[in-house]
Amino acid sequence: MHTLSQEARVEEVMHDRVYKTDDEWRQQLTPEQYWVMRKRGTEPPFTGAWWEHKEKGLYRCAGCGFGLFSWRAKFDSGTGWPSFLAPINESHLAHHEDRSYFMHRTEVSCSRCGAHLGHVFDDGPPPTGLRYCINSAALAFEPEEQRQEEGVGAPSPE
Ligand SMILES: [Zn+2]
Repeated sequence: MHTLSQEARVEEVMHDRVYKTDDEWRQQLTPEQYWVMRKRGTEPPFTGAWWEHKEKGLYRCAGCGFGLFSWRAKFDSGTGWPSFLAPINESHLAHHEDRSYFMHRTEVSCSRCGAHLGHVFDDGPPPTGLRYCINSAALAFEPEEQRQEEGVGAPSPE
């Protein structure tokens, strides 16, 4: 999986970072998005827009638009949060140890703008065995049809 071209993409990501002040984020995001993505909040289960969503398309970071998860990697975890087997590219996520609430979890955030997305657990189904448990509020969905209408024949640089 880890090829030289992927390393090159990591570089690309590093140069393409999105930095905004707290005030700028507060203006851009809804209060719920701000709380989840900038204050590392967790939306209540079974309440978000995407946990039951099955359309074909791409889930992007709601903060900066970075492509994060494909509908193909989504599965029904029964938790009430959107759950994925893997991101479209590992370099699009940053992982951090999270020891809050007396638990040892791994937090995942957008590697481009630093938005908190959710957590990854190692109790997912095959083939990855991983369960990326992501807040709906941190995701913006782009239907596949829309991408085709944009006339992008080749895979877009997400
Ligand atoms: Zn982002």
